[in-house]
Amino acid sequence: MPYDELMFGESEMFQVINAEKKDGKVLIYVNSKQPGSNCPECNDLSSRIHSYYTRKIMDLPMVGSQTWLILNARKFYCLNVSCVRKVFAERFPEHVVTRKTVTKRVNEKFLKIASLMGGNGGVRICQLMNLPTSSSTLIRLIHQQPLEQNTVPKVLGIDDWAFKKGSRYGTIIVDLEKRKIIDLLPDRETHSVEQWLKAHPGVEIVSRDRYGNFANGVKNASPHIKHVADRWHLLKNLGDAMQKALDRNVIILKAARQRKKTQAHSEIQPLSGVENENEIIDKGVIAKKFYLVKQMLLEGNSIKKIARDTGVTRITIRKWKSFDVLPPKRSPTMTNMHLYDELVREMLVENPTIETKAILKKIKEMGYNGSVTMCYENIRKLRERKTKNTEHQLSTVFWVPPKASNLFYLNRRGLSQSEKMFIDTLCAESKEIKRAAKLIRQFKSMLKKKDCSMLSVWINNAISSNVKEIKGFAKGLLSDFEAIENGVKLPWSNGPVEGMVNKLKIIKRQMYGRASFELLRKRLVNHQT
Ligand SMILES: [Zn+2]
Repeated sequence: MPYDELMFGESEMFQVINAEKKDGKVLIYVNSKQPGSNCPECNDLSSRIHSYYTRKIMDLPMVGSQTWLILNARKFYCLNVSCVRKVFAERFPEHVVTRKTVTKRVNEKFLKIASLMGGNGGVRICQLMNLPTSSSTLIRLIHQQPLEQNTVPKVLGIDDWAFKKGSRYGTIIVDLEKRKIIDLLPDRETHSVEQWLKAHPGVEIVSRDRYGNFANGVKNASPHIKHVADRWHLLKNLGDAMQKALDRNVIILKAARQRKKTQAHSEIQPLSGVENENEIIDKGVIAKKFYLVKQMLLEGNSIKKIARDTGVTRITIRKWKSFDVLPPKRSPTMTNMHLYDELVREMLVENPTIETKAILKKIKEMGYNGSVTMCYENIRKLRERKTKNTEHQLSTVFWVPPKASNLFYLNRRGLSQSEKMFIDTLCAESKEIKRAAKLIRQFKSMLKKKDCSMLSVWINNAISSNVKEIKGFAKGLLSDFEAIENGVKLPWSNGPVEGMVNKLKIIKRQMYGRASFELLRKRLVNHQT
């Protein structure tokens, strides 16, 4: 294959003369094969050579090495007598960017990399590929690109995004059919949305959240555009209302529980007091005997005499002989029951109502060497500990519900045991919560079935319910009824828009928050493949 064709394809512009590797760079010496060139001023073709000069142009790397074309280019006289230009340099419009030291294909790569990776990230990728450049060059390339003109979509998704959360917001416009970002607006004002829609006629459906500016902007632009209230935002707003209702109710329930608890506590207290006293007396008797025995030993009495006088066995007296203070009572560790504690616990978790007999049989087979009574006593303790634990779990779940409203949306089958218990306890203790939970279930199923026939009934039910937060949510729905009806029955939602907002955030942060609006807009709207 001729080298010219290998390097430049079908083009008849260059002739490869020679190639060499110098200082790690591939240098390819090239002559121009063009018969002449067009004057940049008057566009007349000229082939009268004025002089030769050498241009160094960077091309894509060859087998990993930086590659340069050493081009023997020419200057021509302009033959048009009326032209102001007398001499001009030869141009290679197919291959070389005018007044640049890179080939067109390098420039295209730079632009693609810059759009994907931004300035600094792009430079790093280019370095890896042996294509030296600077971040400002890459950013400039993005800026020089004209904004891609998309065909006006029929179905739009519109949402806001934050330049800086809480202070400055913009608007994102997405083609919901092609799932493509169409444009960004620098703010989220009514007139901006209105202007954009007027400049891009042909939009039939707009999916939006319930932010008033978007609704008004679309309405002002054209009364014929169908509004769709986004399902996700509807569910989120309902969830927020539910969370408020929960927070309010839980405070009331918590107070009620606390009262019950203190009542129960005061009933138990005297009993435990008696127990403690007995313990102290018990300890006191042994301690008295211990010090008596020690005294008698010091006085030189025989062990036999001490045993007879105090009633303490001779074995104990011999043991006490080596202690200065009363040694603590040790629990018996005669059996190997402790080896099976973990297993028994697992069996109890698996089947809380399992018979103790069955457990005993199982661990005996595995080598338990203790008595039946000992085993029964241990299992009873483990059972007690287990019920205490679940009670503890329930109480923590019950009193810390930051995102508890989510539980009411999820399918019951997907909930854990403690989550189910949490919901059931709340519903059992508060009629309001029970009512709200039912309303949420109905709303969710309405959205799932895309059945808007029940919407007005649901709103009426919610308004007549005694849960003031849900009531407020339902009243809000009435003010935007048509859009919500469309949101329930039409297949469009802002899900893809939320995805695009995430993409926008990633690109924005990649530019370390220094992204100008125009740069962000070009990076997102152009090159979306
Ligand atoms: Zn000319």
